[in-house]
Amino acid sequence: MTVAYLGLGTNLGRRVRNLSAARRRLREKGVRIVRQTRVIETEPWGVVDQPRFLNQVLEVEWEGTPRQLLRAAKAVEREGGRTRTRRWGPRVIDVDILRFGNERISDPDLTVPHPRIRERTFVLEGLRELGV
Ligand code: ATP
Ligand code: CA
Ligand code: CA
Repeated sequence: MTVAYLGLGTNLGRRVRNLSAARRRLREKGVRIVRQTRVIETEPWGVVDQPRFLNQVLEVEWEGTPRQLLRAAKAVEREGGRTRTRRWGPRVIDVDILRFGNERISDPDLTVPHPRIRERTFVLEGLRELGV
């Protein structure tokens, strides 16, 4: 079992509902949500001409490998109806792996810890709220 941190983001459609649907779908895939931060509204990052995001950080427990968790995260995005997948663009739901235990992975399709954590106030604040 590994403790991991996930970052959720949404800026299209019914955002609060998108977050709760994502948490439910993660649970259905075996992700045990141990703690979650409050939801905060943030200005878009990278591509600024788009609606504001709601963001949340989850502390989770996961029985499998990091890649299996990534697969689950991508399935949750798909099931949430994510279609526009431009990096940093608008999306119904984004699920990023922020940390996976103490593991360090540097493949383009999976980099852990997430390389842009330090540039994102909402991620830093979420992790701080969880005492990480
Ligand atoms: P950012 O990664 O800067 O938050 P983004 O979330 O908009 O940008 P996406 O388009 O959602 O980027 O993802 C692009 C690719 O990033 C995914 O296909 C995925 O394989 C890869 N990726 C690399 N590291 C991670 C990670 N730690 N968590 C989730 N996806 C990752
Ligand atoms: Ca992201
Ligand atoms: Ca992502």
